[in-house]
Amino acid sequence: MYLRINIKSFRDIPESLTRIKLAEKMSGIVNKKEKWVILGKEEIALETLPTNYGGLRYYFLCPTCVSRRNILYYHTKNGEIGCRDCFNLKYPSLNRSKTDCAYYYKLAEKEAQKIDPSYVWDGRNNEYKFPDRPKNMHRDKYNRRKRKYTRYVKEGDRLWLAGVAQSFK
Ligand SMILES: [Zn+2]
Repeated sequence: MYLRINIKSFRDIPESLTRIKLAEKMSGIVNKKEKWVILGKEEIALETLPTNYGGLRYYFLCPTCVSRRNILYYHTKNGEIGCRDCFNLKYPSLNRSKTDCAYYYKLAEKEAQKIDPSYVWDGRNNEYKFPDRPKNMHRDKYNRRKRKYTRYVKEGDRLWLAGVAQSFK
């Protein structure tokens, strides 16, 4: 069984050494100043990227492949920690065609990155909203991008659900 650890769970804590509740039956210690967090027995590095609206966005660095992640997985049996790709927790279909949800999620991500280059699509279950409108961006242009993004996410969800239904047949 995997515990899913979302970095958003400690987004709003102050920049000091803090014990945090991470996921079911799990707690950790985060140090936002030195950019690390202890998950289970492992120290995981954090990375920050500035957002368009003057804040900082935190990411995990996957201890295995060192990629930036919003979500890491903790294996409850052996305590291993890694990202979705390292644990092979892939989408139902690996074939990135127009009938594949991943194709549309990628398009949604690209749309969001036009507004916030640090935006990362990290799985269908992520709670990321479309980035806020930058002050210098025209409202019409922003709304157009947002509508496009929503359309891609919806189409991705539709295909994802179809894939899940298929796998139970
Ligand atoms: Zn990884």
